[in-house]
Amino acid sequence: MDKVLMLGNEAIARGAWEAGVQVAAAYPGTPSTEIVTGLAGYDGVYAEWSTNEKVAYEVAFGAALGGARALTAMKSAGASVAADPLISSVYTGVNGGLVVCLAGDPGMASGMTEQDDRYFGRISSMPMLEPADSQECYEYVKLAFDLSEDFDVPVMVRLSIQVAHQKSIVRLDETMSGEETGRPAPERKPPDRKTEKYCLLPRFSRPLHISLLERFERLRRFSEQSAADGVLAFVEPAAGADVAAGADAGSGPAALPLRPAALPLRDGGVARIGVVSAGAAYISAKEALPGASFLKLGMIHPLPIEAIRRFAATVDRLFVVEELEPYLEEQLLAAGIACEGKRWFPQWGELTPVRVGRGFFAAGLDLPRWAQEKAAEDVSVIPRPPVLCTGCPHRGMATAMKKLDLDVHGDIGCYDLTTLPPVSHMHSAVEMGASIPMEQGFTRAGGSETGSIAVIGDSTFLHSGLTGLLNAVHQRTNVTVLIQDNSITAMTGGQTNPGNERTLAGAETKPVDIAAICKALGVEYIEIVDPYDYQACLDALKAGLAFDGPAVLITNRPCMLFPRKVGGAAYVVDEELCNACQQCMKLGCPSLSHTETTWKDRHKVAIDAETCTGCSLCAQLCKPGAIAPATATKAGDA
Ligand code: SF4
Ligand code: SF4
Repeated sequence: MDKVLMLGNEAIARGAWEAGVQVAAAYPGTPSTEIVTGLAGYDGVYAEWSTNEKVAYEVAFGAALGGARALTAMKSAGASVAADPLISSVYTGVNGGLVVCLAGDPGMASGMTEQDDRYFGRISSMPMLEPADSQECYEYVKLAFDLSEDFDVPVMVRLSIQVAHQKSIVRLDETMSGEETGRPAPERKPPDRKTEKYCLLPRFSRPLHISLLERFERLRRFSEQSAADGVLAFVEPAAGADVAAGADAGSGPAALPLRPAALPLRDGGVARIGVVSAGAAYISAKEALPGASFLKLGMIHPLPIEAIRRFAATVDRLFVVEELEPYLEEQLLAAGIACEGKRWFPQWGELTPVRVGRGFFAAGLDLPRWAQEKAAEDVSVIPRPPVLCTGCPHRGMATAMKKLDLDVHGDIGCYDLTTLPPVSHMHSAVEMGASIPMEQGFTRAGGSETGSIAVIGDSTFLHSGLTGLLNAVHQRTNVTVLIQDNSITAMTGGQTNPGNERTLAGAETKPVDIAAICKALGVEYIEIVDPYDYQACLDALKAGLAFDGPAVLITNRPCMLFPRKVGGAAYVVDEELCNACQQCMKLGCPSLSHTETTWKDRHKVAIDAETCTGCSLCAQLCKPGAIAPATATKAGDA
C-alpha cells in the first residue's frame, strides 16, 4: 500500500479523483484553494476558476444534474456567496454525486471573520462530514460522493484550516496508485430531465421539501448506524478502560460503548471523563487529555444522537470540545444529554492543545502542566505589519490616496495590506464586492470634505463588483471607483480570472476588457492610470473626484509575482544626498531600510539591490534626488 505525505486539501483532491469526479469548479479562497488546484493536475477532470463561489457552485450543480460526479470548494465567506444554490440544491437533490468542500478559518489566519460554517449544514439540511487528518480527507470525500448519490443530496465535507493545511500520511488505494494504474473511466449517469425535481416553483418545492425531510430522516438513521458500527463515529478508549459489549479496550477505534478509567480531580476526587469532538479540535483534545475516553465524530450533521447518549452513559462527566460556536453542545443539551463545553473552552480562535488543556484544568481536572504552558496568545512577538511585495503596483495609488486624505472604502485583495502603517490609507474592507456599494451609501450620506473613493481589484470586481457599479450608475450616484487591475487573483497565490488570456487548464481564452465593461455599465468617465507614475496617480484621483457623475480609474500594471511589463534596474541611494526626510519610507517598500548613518537624529536610507524591482516610486518621492537607478552614477543621470 502506497503511503504519501499530503496536505488535507491534496488528499481531498486525490480522493475525489479516485471517486470519479469529472467536473470541479471554485473561486480561490484560503484555505480551500489547493483542492481545485490539485484536481486540475489529474487526468480526466475538468477544473476551472469560476468568477465567484455562486457561479462555481452552479457549474458543479449543473454537472451533477448532467450525470457526472462534481465538486466545488470554498472558504467560509464563499459559502455565504454560494448560499442560494447551496440551499436550493438540497431540495432538488442530485443526479451524479455533488460534494461541497467548505474550509473554515478558526483563528482568522487569513479570513475576515471566523464564522462557524457548520451552521450551513443545519440551515440547508445538507449532510456534513468532518475529517480530522489527511487520511480522513481522502476517505471521507469518497464516502461523500457515495452518500450524495445514495441519498440524492449534495454532501458537505467541512474542513478547518488546521486540517486543510496540515500534512499527514495517506495510505492510498493500491488499485489506484502506481505508474501503470489509474482510475477507471468514470461512469456518467444519463442526464436528468425532471421538471418537477429541478424547477423550484412552489408547486414543486412543497413536495420537494417533504422529500428532503424524508431523505434527512434516512440520513439520520445512517448516521446512527455508522456510529453503532464504529465507522463514522468511534470511541478511542483510554488505556485501562473497562470493556463492554465485546469491544477491545486500548486497541484503537471501537464501536460503542466503553467505560473509561477514572481520572484524578483537583479536589481529590476522581471521575470518568468522556469527550465528544470532531476534526481539528479532536486532535487537540486527544493531546490535552489522553486519559479520557473519546467519541470522535466523522458525521456532524445529522448527529448520531443516540450513540452519543450511550457514550454519555459510560462517563461521569461529558465534555464537548469544538472550535467556535457551541454547535454540538447545544444539540446535545437539546437532546437532554448533560455536557460541558463553552463554559471551559474558548469560543474564538484555534483550539490548540494548550487552550483545551487549560479548559480541562479550569473544569477541575488535575492537569497542572497545562495551567503552566503558554498559549499562542501569551507569547509576545515583535509586531510585523503586513506589507505589499517590493515593487507592488498597488503602492503608488495607496500613497496618493493617503496624500489626498481620502475616505477609502476597500475590498478584498492585496491592497488591504496598506491598511496599517506606514501607508494607513484604508477605512473599510468588509467583504467581496462591498467597496462600491459602501462608497455609494457613504456618498448618499453626504460624503466627506476631502473626498471618498471605492478601491477594488480586478478579480474582486469580476467576482461581485460589477453589480455594485451598475447600481451606482443606475442610481445616478456620484461615486469614484479605483479598479486596481494587476491582471491576476494575487492574494490567494496567483490564480487566473476572466481578465487573463488563459484558463486554469492552460487553454487560451479572450481576456475581458474591464474598461469596456465599465462603459457598457454606463460609466462616462474612465481613465487608465500607470500606478508607477506617482504624479499621474495624484492627477487621476483629483480628476476622477471632480467629475460630475460616476468615475472609474483603472491601473494597468501587473502583479510583481506575475510580471509582464515591469522589471527595470534596481535603484540605489546616494547617502551624501539623502537628508533622511523619510518621504520614501512612507511607501512601505520592503526593499527600503534604514542605515546606521543619521542626519538630524533621523536615519538615512538604503535600497536592497537584490529585491528592488526598479519601480521608481521612491525616486519620485525623493525631493533631494538621492535615489537613482543603479546604472546611473548621479541622481541627475537617471
Ligand atoms: S524603486 Fe524604490 S519603491 Fe520601487 S521597488 Fe525599488 S526600493 Fe522599492
Ligand atoms: S526620500 Fe530621499 S532624502 Fe528622503 S529619506 Fe528617502 S532617500 Fe533620503
